[in-house]
Amino acid sequence: MALPKRRHSVARGRKRRTHWKINLRQTIICPQCKQEKLPHHICPSCGYYKGKEVLKIETVAERKKRKEKKRDKRKK
Ligand SMILES: [Zn+2]
Repeated sequence: MALPKRRHSVARGRKRRTHWKINLRQTIICPQCKQEKLPHHICPSCGYYKGKEVLKIETVAERKKRKEKKRDKRKK
């Protein structure tokens, strides 16, 4: 296997690594609820995509109610 003749200096390695950065994910404004969302994705806050409701997003209160109902059913 090929081996490097000399080790790279710390500066050389660091200079190469200056380009290793992550950039922020691009977001767009949802036309339905005006919240930020990822492009080409269903909006996580209203569940709409292309002007249609694709996912039913339930509020915290709705979720609590549903869970309680489930729990009550199990008790009986
Ligand atoms: Zn939305």
